[in-house]
Amino acid sequence: MTQTITKPEALLEALGLDEHLLAGARAANEAFALRVPAPYLARIRRGDPNDPLLRQILPLGEELEEQSGYVSDPLDEGAAKRAPGLLQKYAGRALLITTQACAIHCRYCFRREFPYAEQVSGEGGRWNEALEAIATDSSLEEVILSGGDPLTLSDARLKQITDALAAMPHVQRIRVHTRQPVVLPSRVDDGLSGWIVGIRQPVVFVLHVNHPNEIDDEVRAACARLRAVGVTLLNQSVLLAGVNDDVDTLKRLSITLMNAGVLPYYLHLPDRVRGTAHFDVAESRAKELVAALTTQLSGYLVPRLVREIPGAPSKTTIV
Ligand code: SF4
Repeated sequence: MTQTITKPEALLEALGLDEHLLAGARAANEAFALRVPAPYLARIRRGDPNDPLLRQILPLGEELEEQSGYVSDPLDEGAAKRAPGLLQKYAGRALLITTQACAIHCRYCFRREFPYAEQVSGEGGRWNEALEAIATDSSLEEVILSGGDPLTLSDARLKQITDALAAMPHVQRIRVHTRQPVVLPSRVDDGLSGWIVGIRQPVVFVLHVNHPNEIDDEVRAACARLRAVGVTLLNQSVLLAGVNDDVDTLKRLSITLMNAGVLPYYLHLPDRVRGTAHFDVAESRAKELVAALTTQLSGYLVPRLVREIPGAPSKTTIV
């Protein structure tokens, strides 16, 4: 976490990128800070402003252009708040906002303007209220650790949460949404494995990989370690213009994930959060892409194309 680039000028220098990108990067960095850890940086091609991994992390001036229909809380998560740090959107499961910290800042993030100050506290005191709400609602069979990225918390803090959940008989599954095994694979160490082994319930990790170049040998090793301690690995991608909106990339992504032991599960149409209009892919184009994938891959390698619609009882399947 200490070997992280947070300054636009340092990013451009490290990747040999043209200085004309600097003004926009500095301006957008003010609104949503740049953050990219060393292992992820190493996978970005030097001197290529169109690199699909760079596009996910480089602040651009166009993020600051107001676009109609793009808002701060496109999923109306404010309405899903059950307790400080606890959101419930769908029946049977609830989402614990464990932290606001991430190892990487993804420019398309739908929580880039999330009011974390109201949702999590550094001391964990507010988790108590959230955990209390879970404990007293026996309909909640699954708890999703989210954020931010839950794996930015120490193993001890994670254990605090899962020990509390272990004492709730109705909580049957723990799901962790994280990008850390991909952007900082060394996080999957003995300590993390020990934490997972001690969890009473089955554990599912949902990784967020958008491009096959994000998966290298270190990531494959991290996935293997997670599988070795019994974690089910799923992936959800976001369909992003200029990153993965072509058949060849999506096909290679599914195959690369499966070879790493990760099931490609969801392909999300991007949420319309302010500053991300340049990533948008039309629904008609998304359908064409998935239709093409269907003719080229085994069924289990074709992710479900979905969109999240505020207030809907589940994610809305497009294909
Ligand atoms: S890791 Fe997830 S929560 Fe963090 S910035 Fe990226 S998309 Fe957002």
